[in-house]
Parts: sequence; C-alpha cells; structure tokens
Amino acid sequence: MKTIRLSVKTSAHTQMLDITGLVQDAVTKSGVKNGICTIFVPHTTAAVTINENADPDVVRDFMMEINKIVPWEDGYRHMEGNSAAHLKSSMIGFSEQVIIEDGLLMLGTWQGIYFCEYDGARSRKVLLKIMEG
Ligand code: ZN
Repeated sequence: MKTIRLSVKTSAHTQMLDITGLVQDAVTKSGVKNGICTIFVPHTTAAVTINENADPDVVRDFMMEINKIVPWEDGYRHMEGNSAAHLKSSMIGFSEQVIIEDGLLMLGTWQGIYFCEYDGARSRKVLLKIMEG
C-alpha cells in the first residue's frame, strides 16, 4: 500500500484541526477492511493527537494550557523565533496509530484525530500508511 499524502491548511497560529473525516475517507478509499492506520506529521512545528471531539471547549482548554506550559517568549536562543512550537510538537508527538475494523477507524465514541498547528497559519502535510492485517 502506497503512502497517502493529505493536505491540511491551518488558519491560526495555534490550532487543533479535526482530521478524523479526512483519515476515514482515506481508509475507505484504500479498501482495507481490517488493519492499522498510521498517521504521521512530517513537520517540526506541528503534531497529531487523539482527544475529545464532542465538546469544542476541550480543544480550547487544551490549546490554552499548552500555551501556558510552553510560552511563546521565554528567552529562547533559536534564531527562527519559534522554539515554543518545536517544543510543543515533540511533547504532543508526530504520529498516532488507529486500528481499522470493518473498514472503520476504531476510535472511541468521543475521540477524534487532531492535527495540531503550533506555528501557523500554513499549508501542511499529513502522511498515512494503511496496512492490512
Ligand atoms: Zn524553528
């Protein structure tokens, strides 16, 4: 199975974009009924995570707290000026794996897959590897 490249456009400096639908569409198109979908973010100032997609305040609180834990300005030395984004990316992580059963992502009732932007707005890529098994 070839690697699938998804394009994602973020519209804010810090953002959590629900990409569950995009990932499920790719799984459906792949025709894989049972297996694993790996979601990988090939950027150093973005990430991917799984969390609640029912109450939008969860995402709001998540972004508010992570911006407190890693402030944008804190005497960093990195010349590009976006050390906070690099830190947040590594903290949240660059990949997730979801089990596929009967052609559907086996996410919990309240779970969604989020692309996390930490230095937007930008055009971004998300890579998917869907493996049967
Ligand atoms: Zn940088």
